[in-house]
Amino acid sequence: MRVILLGPPGAGKGTQAERLAEHLGASRISSGDLFRQHTLKSTELGVLAKSYMDRGALVPDDVTIKMVMNWIIEPEQVRGFVLDGFPRTLGQAAALDQALTETGGIDKVLYIKVPREELVVRLSERLVCRLCQTPYSVNNSRLEKEGKCDKCGGQLYQRGDDKLVAVQKRLEVYSEQTEPLVGYYRGRGVLEEIDGEDSVSKVGDALTQAVAV
Ligand code: AMP
Repeated sequence: MRVILLGPPGAGKGTQAERLAEHLGASRISSGDLFRQHTLKSTELGVLAKSYMDRGALVPDDVTIKMVMNWIIEPEQVRGFVLDGFPRTLGQAAALDQALTETGGIDKVLYIKVPREELVVRLSERLVCRLCQTPYSVNNSRLEKEGKCDKCGGQLYQRGDDKLVAVQKRLEVYSEQTEPLVGYYRGRGVLEEIDGEDSVSKVGDALTQAVAV
């Protein structure tokens, strides 16, 4: 099964993509994580991506499409995949359609809806692991070691683009460039809306149900 998780920044796509991919026995890719890995290694792509990410802008389509397509054509992706954070523009969606025409296209687009006010709070309170990218909330006092990831022990930090100015820009960019994808996929009959305000486990259940039908 090939699934896209669509939704604004802070909707919980990363957390849910991991759970859903495990449930489906599929691979998962986050374009944002790929860019951050390149940034960490200071590759040419990472340096370029960082200049856009830091100000909450999208990395240009040609670069993003090339990076994700290189992943999609890897042999293990025949088992299916969950895409998190891609596509984010109509140009990226068209490129994805074109790449998948011969093999049947996208099966489901799960659109996680969360009100804007809630997103601002979630993003400005978020910390992520520098190594495995697992998200935590600043208010989470149940960490085994303060400031360290419970899963891998990596250092927790606030992403530069989770600072308020960048968050506002990211939400603006989302409305202008990514939200039109809702109509695009609804028109293709593959879109399903999920209430993203519920708990992580309830949203996870709703997503699992949506891929079962
Ligand atoms: P994310 O981790 O999905 O919130 O993405 C973080 C940042 O990476 C975004 O604000 C963009 O700068 C960049 N990015 C991630 N995915 C894409 C994409 N599909 N197209 C363009 N830029 C992207």
